[in-house]
Amino acid sequence: MFQPPFCPNPICPTEVGRQPFIYRRRGHYRRKCDGRRIPRFCCQVCKRGFSSQTFRGNYRYRLPVLHHQLMGCLVSKVTRRQAARLFQVNRKTIERRFKRFSALGHDFHLAQMEAKKERGGFRGCFQLDELETYEHNRRIKPVTLAVTIERSSFFVVGVDAGKMASRGNLNPRYKKRKAEIESFEGIRRSESRAAIRKSFLRLATYSATGGNIYFQSDQKTTYPVELRRAFPLRHICHEVTSSKARRDYSNPLFPINHTLAMMRDGMSCLVRRNWGAPKRKSGLARHCWIWIVWRNYVRGITNQTKTTPAQALGICARALRTKDVYHWRWPRRDHPKHI
Ligand SMILES: [Zn+2]
Repeated sequence: MFQPPFCPNPICPTEVGRQPFIYRRRGHYRRKCDGRRIPRFCCQVCKRGFSSQTFRGNYRYRLPVLHHQLMGCLVSKVTRRQAARLFQVNRKTIERRFKRFSALGHDFHLAQMEAKKERGGFRGCFQLDELETYEHNRRIKPVTLAVTIERSSFFVVGVDAGKMASRGNLNPRYKKRKAEIESFEGIRRSESRAAIRKSFLRLATYSATGGNIYFQSDQKTTYPVELRRAFPLRHICHEVTSSKARRDYSNPLFPINHTLAMMRDGMSCLVRRNWGAPKRKSGLARHCWIWIVWRNYVRGITNQTKTTPAQALGICARALRTKDVYHWRWPRRDHPKHI
């Protein structure tokens, strides 16, 4: 029988742990699409009503089908427009599902890392590199994507997108277009450092405390400064490799280079020179969270091994299916059989 794990009201006093969560059953309703009995509940602290459906990933959908195949498409170079044609649904439906998938995936990933943090956090050698892409126009509106991974497991800790300043040596047509864009968007300044800072802070939040920090990257001068800022009291072992070094298996940065190549291969918005280029930075970041969940929890590290990166790092006990990840709206850490 379903038991609500917490009050879904974000401003309920039980949310911040001030009062224990007490609820009462309050009848049921019949779900219109399939006639299933859905139990209703009432929080005895804030008096807010909710049902078991409130906790599900397909909450508030008229047709509670989450298109699990859509998740497969979004990590296989299929654009959202093409997915709408394949599933014969409206483009807005896909867009809403895309946003919901991304939010659920993001929450799921952070909750998994938080649960691991409560068990001591993860250790390892970390790598960070930036992938360059763009929104709308490659020369006028470039975007950087800072990606952090753990080296041996290929576990992707997080991704942060930031604007980059427009490129130099623009031709007169592009110069005119740039001036037009700047007149209503303001001057485009680089957010690369801010993206790197956010990535390191996330790493500091969820990785194990104490001991040395092992980190590998290319020679960008921002990395040591921001690394010191994120880990002020730790001994940092930072190995630097030239980005001009041959990018093969013997290169220390092979895992991060390989991860970026996988992202370019799997996400339609990152495939070079195609029609699926991102229109906005926010959409790009959303797509990344969907890919990260698939990479960390669903796909094996290689084609031969079925072990996922999350399993290898001790974050998850088994490989998950996409419907395991997107079943609950908030990951229920107290019910590990569901996640
Ligand atoms: Zn409540």
